[in-house]
Amino acid sequence: MSPLLSKEMPFDIEKVLQILEEEVRNFHVPVVDLIAVQTHDPFKVLVATILSARTRDEVTAKAAARLFAKAPTPQTLAALDEETLRQLVFPVGFYKNKARYLAALPDILEKNFASQVPCEIEQLITLPGVGRKTANLVRAQGFGKSAICVDTHVHRIMNIWGYVQTTSPLQTEMALREKLPEQYWIKVNSLLVAFGQGRCRPVGPHCDSCVLSNLCPRIGVTPRKMTPGRSGQQSGAKRLISWNVNGLRAVAAKGFTEIVKELAPDILALQEIKALPEQLPDSVREIAGFSSYFHSALKKGYSGVATYSRIAADKVYYGIGDQRFDEEGRVLTLEFSDFYFVNCYFPNSRHDLSRLGLKHDFNQALHEFVEDLARKKSVVICGDFNVAHTEKDLANPEANVKNAGFTPEERKWMDSYVERGWIDTFRQYNQEPGHYSWWSYRSGARARNIGWRIDYFFVDPASRSRTVGAEILTNVQGSDHCPVALDFK
Ligand code: SF4
Repeated sequence: MSPLLSKEMPFDIEKVLQILEEEVRNFHVPVVDLIAVQTHDPFKVLVATILSARTRDEVTAKAAARLFAKAPTPQTLAALDEETLRQLVFPVGFYKNKARYLAALPDILEKNFASQVPCEIEQLITLPGVGRKTANLVRAQGFGKSAICVDTHVHRIMNIWGYVQTTSPLQTEMALREKLPEQYWIKVNSLLVAFGQGRCRPVGPHCDSCVLSNLCPRIGVTPRKMTPGRSGQQSGAKRLISWNVNGLRAVAAKGFTEIVKELAPDILALQEIKALPEQLPDSVREIAGFSSYFHSALKKGYSGVATYSRIAADKVYYGIGDQRFDEEGRVLTLEFSDFYFVNCYFPNSRHDLSRLGLKHDFNQALHEFVEDLARKKSVVICGDFNVAHTEKDLANPEANVKNAGFTPEERKWMDSYVERGWIDTFRQYNQEPGHYSWWSYRSGARARNIGWRIDYFFVDPASRSRTVGAEILTNVQGSDHCPVALDFK
């Protein structure tokens, strides 16, 4: 918390938003605002807003320009088939779904709204691909009418400030309707999107250079880390990050390289990449400043791990010498002068537990593999272990005792690991429940923090003193898992 602000002190929202208006003047303008200002056309604002979901602004701007060159009105959009639309909007995130929404849009506008974009929220949300956030944005930017568009930045930053205490964007919208002065309803989105992209970023906000540093209570914020190992940080620790991306091609379309820049890892381990290296965009296969290593599954679109390292490895080991696991691309080990870095994607025992036996065999084989390495030098093992170890590591332990990932057999294996002295590094620094790394995509589980901690960094017993800190980077979106981190010297 800022030393100048106690929790009891009222948060002066008007003062803060006025400061931000000045502050973001030179920041990047969100693409939908730009289109609104340039066109004053609700149809273009609507289409750009649909395209912008889960897509970087540069990608949205180019896709919108290609599309508007052919279809500047509902009538011209109606002349394009879905396949053409896919080609025009690619590579925006979820481009197939968005092409389907756009293909259906002209017909619905014609039938229900005389080919005009409606301005009421309840009408807008009947359009394909339009949720409450999009509807509010179109109403505000397309029509200049009172609306509060709450996206991830508005929801996140309003909670960081403690101006609202909410767990979902919808709750934030409702809370803001109650208390935010109406003169800020329309502009709060563009202010906080620009500020959230430029300064108060989801990963490592730049509090050190923030104009609000003396006013912001920084609730739940992990301040930006200076990049270890390259910034002369006293500990000299390397920042190691592990992330199950649940499809590297999918996350590539959601700003993967930007996220990597923000995270500033020294070594980044990815699991479930679901791709061969040659299927990846060049910018993802080779990230400037990193050596990249891939161990993909033989089966296309399945499993697979990748590791990016700022220091080239002395030696690389693909797999653990057991064909059953090696052909599924489950373990990739980099050897450095003073430690091994083992990136693992543990098998899932499956809903019907039909792979529990296989998972047990994997656990045994991996255990032998890393014990062998630990006889030579330090070992760091990270990845998606596909198991929550204790009742503290998932939101609903009682309901899951017989479920994959929390069976007594799987937990027992984790016990045996810990009993032999291997260290769950996150628990060195945090004993509290409620810290998770995976949430189901269903029922808004992530917003409600109904999750599981199944991604770990372990180190061998002799390397306890080499760990400097560990954390879970829950702010990072893009997958159903978030990254976990270890600072290791
Ligand atoms: S950057 Fe830091 S100080 Fe500024 S608003 Fe965000 S959390 Fe607060």
